[in-house]
Amino acid sequence: MAFDVNGDPAILGGSRGGMVRPMDGTCFFIRGERWSDEGKVGSATAFVRRCSAMSGKTHREEARIKNEESSMKIRIIYQILDFLASVLPGLWIRVILMSNFMEQTLVLIKPDGVQRGLVGEIVRRFEQAGLKMIALKMVHPSHEDVDRHYALTEEWMQGVFNKAKAKYDARGETFPYEDHVTYGKEIKRGLVEFLKSAPIIAMVLEGEQAVALIRKLVGATEPAGAAPGTIRGDLSLDTYALSNAQNRPIRNLIHASGTVEEAQKEIPVWFTDTELHKYEHVNDRVQYDPEWFLS
Ligand code: GDP
Ligand code: MG
Repeated sequence: MAFDVNGDPAILGGSRGGMVRPMDGTCFFIRGERWSDEGKVGSATAFVRRCSAMSGKTHREEARIKNEESSMKIRIIYQILDFLASVLPGLWIRVILMSNFMEQTLVLIKPDGVQRGLVGEIVRRFEQAGLKMIALKMVHPSHEDVDRHYALTEEWMQGVFNKAKAKYDARGETFPYEDHVTYGKEIKRGLVEFLKSAPIIAMVLEGEQAVALIRKLVGATEPAGAAPGTIRGDLSLDTYALSNAQNRPIRNLIHASGTVEEAQKEIPVWFTDTELHKYEHVNDRVQYDPEWFLS
């Protein structure tokens, strides 16, 4: 018998994917196979990924929940300020208050994006989505800049390891690393060398749920697996297999903060407070002001 994430018996017996937690409290993600409560039915191999034993949630799920919690706090503060702004006169007060509590996120166009002349195309996609650019510059980063930017946290190293291993597993190949710390450090070493090798573009974009929106527009880490319509899916083609064989980071054009907390840590690496511009954009009214068409 298996249990779902809530501890209830898992609904099994169909071709399905989902989280399953056996009695011992560990947790697995099972994708796309037929299961009964006797176990797996059918001949194909199930894709099983171990996830956090403590919380019973995948790494991605935990990041999503954290993101939602932050957004919720920001939303409550925003609603209070929105009320204050509505009883105070003047559009400027509204705009300044609103822009203080919109999500901000960091984007870097990596050396491959700059070298391939894709800066305009990438910026166009963010602008067309309605995001507000509040800072942009070209930087040739130092070792220290990149070192600060890619913090070697347990969460990041585990995420990098899990994503790569899942790809190898899905292709039926053996992942040559056993330990996420060794792997994470190796990936970071390559990233530092790559990002400091040539000028990059750094920018901060602002908007409603900007962090998640930009991750959606950017697409998955591996370009070959990134969905069509995303920046990485449309404009690049690299793979885990090729980049690892060549002992270099995946060339996927762009970095975008993964969570609100990540954005809050990353933005100050590249911009001072005074470089983050507060200004009125037509979208502030058209997209966010509930009264814009009445005035
Ligand atoms: P992102 O948030 O989608 O950019 O991905 P991560 O934060 O997990 O990783 C940061 C960057 O490291 C990625 O954009 C890739 O350029 C590179 N990278 C991550 N994982 C791997 C890997 O397993 N192999 C290689 N070669 N590069 C990787
Ligand atoms: Mg990342």
